[in-house]
Amino acid sequence: MTRSRYRGRFAPTPSGALHFGSLIAALGSCLDARVHAGFWHLRIEDVDPPRVVAGSADSTLRTLDAFGFEWDGPVVYQRRRGEAYRATLDRLIDAGQVYGCACSRKTLRERARIGVDGPVYLGACRDRHLPLKTALRLHVPPTRIVFDDLLAGRVACDIAHECGDFVLLRADGVFTYQLAVTVDDAELGITHVVRGADLLASTPRQIVLQQALGYATPAYMHLPVALNDDGSKLSKQTLAAPLRDDDPLPALLRAAAFLGMDLGCEAGSLAEFWQLAPQRWRRAALPPLRGKRLLTRA
Ligand code: GLU
Repeated sequence: MTRSRYRGRFAPTPSGALHFGSLIAALGSCLDARVHAGFWHLRIEDVDPPRVVAGSADSTLRTLDAFGFEWDGPVVYQRRRGEAYRATLDRLIDAGQVYGCACSRKTLRERARIGVDGPVYLGACRDRHLPLKTALRLHVPPTRIVFDDLLAGRVACDIAHECGDFVLLRADGVFTYQLAVTVDDAELGITHVVRGADLLASTPRQIVLQQALGYATPAYMHLPVALNDDGSKLSKQTLAAPLRDDDPLPALLRAAAFLGMDLGCEAGSLAEFWQLAPQRWRRAALPPLRGKRLLTRA
């Protein structure tokens, strides 16, 4: 049996400047790829125009460059991938796995149960056979998705109960993150997805899509996320400080320490950091995931 070469990726959403939380995902995914002699790709997740902040895709690239990251191949931009998403959606429509949904946000809020990642749609439009000009949802099979996260261990999710039929195309014509990321990871041949644990609850939906489309399921490793002092996730929404392109080393050393790597005072320059960091990267030294409602552990 031939095993394909490791292929990882970092996939930031250009909704603002890169911050310490994004640096952890960038560094973790990059080092894990490098120590496995793998490729590491960069994808700009600008599929959702209202979330994109002008200029932040370019500033993300500049920051990664200033921090010494080197990615393989051309940068992938989701905004240029509409045709691939459309073709994939059409396959699911042809297979009868997608239906139109005309429920308003208000109806959704009032009628939904709360699952692992927000409201669970209870399928009110499933048998209405609406024209496919509305939002489109995947009819999720009654499957239990089980996967072995390289850090969180075995994770199980009764997807119909915990997530429900989820949206692939929004009523405003925007393809959703779940569809775009599944198509892109498959087309790039990604073998390892290393990203923040805030996305752990999305993984079963991506796996169910992979199964519906006949794609391979990559290995997953969800890294702990950096928190603010009040326990909320460090993010652009909570106004995390942007990374400083003119002084990358302190932030890189902090990110390395967060990921359990002991570089002491040995890395005095960016070049030394990138020489040492791959030698010190150990999955086993990563801090455990905690403080977040994980999916059911099997
Ligand atoms: N675009 C997502 C983010 O910036 C990451 C998606 C992924 O890694 O799958 O949070």
